[in-house]
Amino acid sequence: MEGTAVGVDIGGTKVAGGLVTADGTVLSTARRSTPGASPAETEGAIVAVVAELTAAADELPVGVGVGAAGWFDRSGDTILFSPHLAWRNTSLRRDLMRRLRLPLWVGNDADAAAWAEYRFGAARGAELALMVTLGTGIGGGIVLGGRLQRGAHGVAGEWGHMRVVPDGRLCACGNRGCWEQYASGTALAQTAREIAHSSPAAAAALLERVSGRAADLTGEVVAQAAEAGDALARELVAEVGHWLGQGIADLSAVLDPDVVVIGGGVSALGEAVLGPARERLQRALPGRGFRPGPQVVAAVLGPQAGLVGAADLVRAESG
Ligand SMILES: [Zn+2]
Repeated sequence: MEGTAVGVDIGGTKVAGGLVTADGTVLSTARRSTPGASPAETEGAIVAVVAELTAAADELPVGVGVGAAGWFDRSGDTILFSPHLAWRNTSLRRDLMRRLRLPLWVGNDADAAAWAEYRFGAARGAELALMVTLGTGIGGGIVLGGRLQRGAHGVAGEWGHMRVVPDGRLCACGNRGCWEQYASGTALAQTAREIAHSSPAAAAALLERVSGRAADLTGEVVAQAAEAGDALARELVAEVGHWLGQGIADLSAVLDPDVVVIGGGVSALGEAVLGPARERLQRALPGRGFRPGPQVVAAVLGPQAGLVGAADLVRAESG
């Protein structure tokens, strides 16, 4: 379907929207801050962002796509679980339908990003593309044979919660040792804090960046230090890359993808993460030497992938 569609990306502290053309171009954007917002306030922010974009558009958008960091049931009607947002069993879709009166797609933000990379980005032409978004946690999406795969209950591709370390770090999902506890921005920060506590001398340069307060070591701080050449920070980033590669090897055992696209904030570190990931993948791929493995590539659409994908999905599903 031609015409523009609105894509909306709901993060932990903001709602960002864009008016997106059929070829994936973002014509204009709007955003609202939602720190600590209740579901009702977040819903209000979505409606405000859509109204702002629609008012500035030449014609009424063909629909609205909304991606959020939650687990949705297959229809998008209900948020089953959101580790990082204050939503449980919220009927977001029904409420938004009533207020927006436009065709609506509601789903997981990494699913939307996977679809955007498949349609317009790093996974174009792939038979089986997997998306791995590295941010606070790990998100995932699957595009197979030209279709986004959401699973029987809507929650396929949540591989941030594959157990990679028996009895490992506690995760917001209720289990221990999940992949996202070892390969994400949070993992980067946690490992840095652990080292700062156990051997402050080794972490001296890192601690200097946060006035000696280990609790202030975030993934961003470690990433900046790594980019500035700090040896320990570079080692920690490489470790995240190794865990990433190990997880991709496990995903390859199950799904045999032709391409794995790495997106999310941590992927901005580029080869510092992807290099070690490919190296570990080569050593850990089941049946290595006797089978091809997937290409591991950086996402190309950046932070707007989620809203571009959500806009395209509502167009695809209502077209
Ligand atoms: Zn988990």
